[in-house]
Order: sequence, then structure tokens, then C-alpha cells
Amino acid sequence: MKPITFHIFVHDDVTLSDRVLGLQYFKKFTDEISAITGRSFEFNMLRNIPGVTNFKYASQNAQAVADRWMAVAADYRNTHNLGWTRTDRYILVTQGKINDQVLGAALPRQPALIASVSSYQVIAHEVGHSFTATHEDAEIGWNAWGLPCETYVYPEVSKGRANCYRYTPKNREHIVNYLKDAP
Ligand SMILES: [Zn+2]
Repeated sequence: MKPITFHIFVHDDVTLSDRVLGLQYFKKFTDEISAITGRSFEFNMLRNIPGVTNFKYASQNAQAVADRWMAVAADYRNTHNLGWTRTDRYILVTQGKINDQVLGAALPRQPALIASVSSYQVIAHEVGHSFTATHEDAEIGWNAWGLPCETYVYPEVSKGRANCYRYTPKNREHIVNYLKDAP
């Protein structure tokens, strides 16, 4: 079984180090995906790539931004002869949001996605979508402190709720099903 490869394009505006990004934004959810799929991860951290990590993502039209990022990522993939399969993801990590309402953008089964570090669960949320997890199958859960929390793919971020830092069983199933037939 092939590992899942994350090409992580850290936008020029991100002020966090690779170490902080890894520990606070990637570790938990990738450990979870590893545990449920049996696949390991390869992380390829990429910074300071003109034409890529200075991508203009702020827009009222999130769909147009997602389409543009898809084209930039596909171009990078072509020039570097990389994979574009179920186990490859091209993640643009941004400091800011696309707009007031939109923290990231991903489509089911599409390898390219955008996610902001403005909230801890956004990267896990968008990666979940790209692995076919849905808002409908996300839910409010309860954390170890007995407080209501949002699972990764829950659609509304509320400051009054904690993060669960996990996918729901149904969304785990979507992720497992999506990856199970990949090489
Ligand atoms: Zn969503």
C-alpha cells in the first residue's frame, strides 16, 4: 500500500514554523487517518516558490479561487513529474481566509485544496472533504472535559464550542472507502 503524500505549500504569508504547523495542524488528523486506513504519510513541506506560494487567494468567489489553485497545483505536478492520485494531496496552507465566510476550499476526490491556519481544524476539514467526508456526516460531539465540540468536518465554526480533533465514525468510513481501492 502506498503512503499518502501531502505536498504542503506554505503560503508566503504564513508566520508559523514547519514544526508548529506539523504538531498543531497536521499531526492529530493524519495519525487518525493512518490508524483507520493503515497507510503512512509522507510530508513534503514547500516554501518560497514564486508563482505558487505567493498565490492570491483572497476573493469573494471561493469557487474561482479553488479552480485557479487546482490549475497551479496541476502545473507544479506536471513540471515535477509527481503523482495526482487518490493518495496525493496538494495543500495550500494560508494565514488568512479566502473571505469572511470561507476558511478553505476542497472538492471531493480532488487532490488540490486550500486551508487557512486561522482555526485549528480547517486543514483536517478540507482534507476530509477531498477524501469524501461530508458536512452531513459530521456532528457535534463531546470532548474529554464533557464540553460540546465540533468534529473536523462540522460546517460551522463557533467560538463557543471546543474542537473535537477527530472525524465522526461515518466520515471515517467515507475516508476508508475512498482510499481502500487505491494502490
Ligand atoms: Zn466544509
